Amino acid sequence: MFPTSVVGSLPRPEWLTDGISKFEKGELGREELERYYDEAVVLAIKQQEMTGVDQVSDGEQRRFSFLAFVAERIPSFRMIPTADLMNEEAARYAQQMNLHVGIISNPVIVGPIRRTAPLVAEEVKFARRYTQKPVMAPIIGPFTLLINSWNSERSGRYYKTPEDAFKDLTAALREEIFALKETGASFVQLDEPAIGNFVDFRYTKWLLALNGWKIKDVKELHRVSAELINMTVKGVSGIKLGVHVCRGNWKADEAHLSHGGYENMIDEILDLKVDRLVLEYATKRAGSYAVFKERPWHGEIGLGVIDVKNPKVETPAEVVRRVEEASKVFAPDKIVMNPDCGFASGRPWPVVTRQIAYAKLSAQTEAARILRSKYA
Ligand SMILES: [Zn+2]
Repeated sequence: MFPTSVVGSLPRPEWLTDGISKFEKGELGREELERYYDEAVVLAIKQQEMTGVDQVSDGEQRRFSFLAFVAERIPSFRMIPTADLMNEEAARYAQQMNLHVGIISNPVIVGPIRRTAPLVAEEVKFARRYTQKPVMAPIIGPFTLLINSWNSERSGRYYKTPEDAFKDLTAALREEIFALKETGASFVQLDEPAIGNFVDFRYTKWLLALNGWKIKDVKELHRVSAELINMTVKGVSGIKLGVHVCRGNWKADEAHLSHGGYENMIDEILDLKVDRLVLEYATKRAGSYAVFKERPWHGEIGLGVIDVKNPKVETPAEVVRRVEEASKVFAPDKIVMNPDCGFASGRPWPVVTRQIAYAKLSAQTEAARILRSKYA
């Protein structure tokens, strides 16, 4: 009972980010940089093992961010700074959210979408060589990818509307899921912060304006998000699948991040054909469990019990209380304990230090031990 996991990313060591800057300036070769990446992944795995977490990841050490990495792997997408895509309407929304547009780049569709190379299967293959523990694979979810990548000006030549890209985009992700099954990943997690942003639509409206989407009612996107996920996982079996919903993970003032519970997206969430929902719940911004009391989810729940944005390390007792509160609504034998989100969704914006991230994972493990002795 009460298995523990990570959600994905862990802060990169400084020597890795320094190495990447050197590589970008031409002062370090590709092969040397690859060695830096390999060593950072081994370190992330060993440090996760030291915390006792049951299911590990490669810490996303090789990715620029949870979203942008697709452009690093396949040429159908190209990283474009959002500053280059800005228009008046988008600028207005960005200002309302105090969004630091300058640090954001999006993987924009710049050609027909084809999975010409593995997205993350090689990451998992490498990580599995260094651990006996199950290795999970966070990959970008189809809705979050599409809303960030289909830009009317840059992608319209290949896909006239976002709908036109549904088939190719979900097929590419499905191919990746099959490859991950082949490599022995324990769990494939589709990251969908764009669903979490349905709580107040500010971030969504910014993206729609930025990318020139013509949507009459933003609520239409609720149906689109579930449809895309279900298209992606259709026909997949023999590997555990999940969807991660959160409200973003910028190093921004929390006051400017989306606030609100799962109420207005509950129909679509319950419609997802996956084994596990990985939900933010440690932060107060995520709302209450009440909605799942009236509308129960029968699968596994990846319960966010660690607040990744608060540098204060939780005590195991606090984490135990969070799980006990949640188990009034979710069946205890379906609860997987994990942090709310990754600890460093993007290389340039880790939300806490490496030391704090691993201390939080240790507190989570200790809490699981207490819970098992109480209830198992
Ligand atoms: Zn997240």
